[in-house]
Amino acid sequence: MKTPRGVCAISLDNIMTIIDRNREFAGKTVLVTGAGKGIGHATVHLLIERGARVIALSRSAADLDALKAETGCETIAVDLADANAARDAARSIQPVDMLVNNAGIAVLEPFLETTVEAFDLTMNVNLRAAMIVAQECAKSMIARGAGGSIVNVSSLSANVGFALHAAYCASKGGLDAMTRVMANELGPHGIRVNAVLPTVTMTPMGERAWSDPVKSAPMLARIPMNRFVEPVEVARTIAYLLGEDSSMVSGVSLLVDGGFQSC
Ligand code: NAP
Repeated sequence: MKTPRGVCAISLDNIMTIIDRNREFAGKTVLVTGAGKGIGHATVHLLIERGARVIALSRSAADLDALKAETGCETIAVDLADANAARDAARSIQPVDMLVNNAGIAVLEPFLETTVEAFDLTMNVNLRAAMIVAQECAKSMIARGAGGSIVNVSSLSANVGFALHAAYCASKGGLDAMTRVMANELGPHGIRVNAVLPTVTMTPMGERAWSDPVKSAPMLARIPMNRFVEPVEVARTIAYLLGEDSSMVSGVSLLVDGGFQSC
């Protein structure tokens, strides 16, 4: 069945399919960037548990070796700050059915002292690399006419101006904006694109930025659920946006913030 604009349409039969959580991603290949630690690491574990073939991309080879031993995933070590290396790596691992653009860094500096170097590095990893990797994946998906699903791991920082986070907030705001453009341009090819926006998540990055109770207490007080997020909770939301449960969800920025932005 074809739509007037595109190559893929989902039949009512597919919509009515009851999804087997244990094998939800069987037969699917998923690329996860920033897979060595934190949210990416939890996402690889969850997707493998649900039947996916996962290619884990990250910077530190030691993290990838450990992840491979734990899960049996495939791995590729690359520094996504290098645009050419990012493109070559993304091209080399096609075809993939799904992409999780998760790699990110946070360099905390007051706005008045934000350096050009930190700003550029943050943009290059959090935003430019996400574009490059998604371009390679989407071109391959389009060439195969297979459709696909992309999740960009953004942040509550896309919506809230946290002190010391100028470059980081700018990069995540840009990632949300790019997500909407991608959803618009790639939708006709059967490719859905969404963003997930966690609040503070208990990963190495989250602990670096929020371990000081003086800083974390006011943040916690603004979260109605009264706790920070666990990496697996973000991973489950990513899995929802990747999979068939969200078959008509595209272009959204889905908060995982325990209600922070509702009040
Ligand atoms: P994390 O614990 O620091 O892990 C990030 C992973 O990304 C690491 O494996 C890291 O590898 C990899 N990575 C970083 N720069 C890279 C590069 N240039 N090339 C390749 N891989 C690179 O961070 P996280 O908390 O899991 O964050 C994951 C995503 O969630 C990020 O996009 C972050 O902005 C977002 N997020 C996090 C939070 C939070 O509170 N933790 C909240 C909202 C959104 P190395 O360790 O080898 O550098």
